[in-house]
Amino acid sequence: MLDVALDYAAGGAAVIPLHSPTDAGCSCRGRDCRNIGKHPRTLAGKDDATTDPETIARWWGMWPDANIGIRPTPGLVVVDIDPRNGGDVQFDAMQQRYGQLPRTRTARTGSGGGHLWFRLCGDLRGQLAPGIDIKTSAGYVVAPPSLHASGGVYTWTDAGPIAPAPEFLAALLVRPARAAAPSNGRVTPAVVEGLVRVVREASPGERNRRLYWAAARAHEKGIDPTPLIEAAIDAGLPQREAERTVDSAANAPGGAHR
Ligand SMILES: [Zn+2]
Repeated sequence: MLDVALDYAAGGAAVIPLHSPTDAGCSCRGRDCRNIGKHPRTLAGKDDATTDPETIARWWGMWPDANIGIRPTPGLVVVDIDPRNGGDVQFDAMQQRYGQLPRTRTARTGSGGGHLWFRLCGDLRGQLAPGIDIKTSAGYVVAPPSLHASGGVYTWTDAGPIAPAPEFLAALLVRPARAAAPSNGRVTPAVVEGLVRVVREASPGERNRRLYWAAARAHEKGIDPTPLIEAAIDAGLPQREAERTVDSAANAPGGAHR
């Protein structure tokens, strides 16, 4: 295990020592361990992942049979197919619908699943489908030749280069950037702030009219009018009057009118 871990590190992959399956269950000796042979042995877990050969030699000196975890470097993702949760069926369906994934570095997991490595950046979803998780630099994967609780061994079925994620995979995984401008009817803090400003900056002559207008907009969009009442009070309107104006704006037939 030490030699392999050092090999990974030499290739740029940050590794961590994981617990191992034992005859009694898990090397953590937790009676109810629910993650046998898959959780880190070190305190900071994935945050301890390193490519430093001395640290790695020390770890596997202490725990020669520790399973090996790899924390993907940013820009790499692992598509983790778990057949026990239907991931293989989902994966086949996805390939039929969108096309074959390209050849890429692939491991067969100890439970008969698959780890497919791809190059892909961005804010990614954690799951592609039920039974197909996505592992990024925010996590880690169990790597060959780690041992699985079932007795199976993780093995590379393709130790070749890591392919760029095809476009359809990127489209499925990358979260869209949040829209900066509110679309009509969507409530954003900027919308609320804008309405509040309209009321707060009103001169005494236009306070009531502005409050009415803002309250009607707030009502249309389902925004809580309390900040508007507060802004009107700030602008010098008595509380009762502000509340009455907001009520009448909310109750106006047909919504907002000038
Ligand atoms: Zn354990």
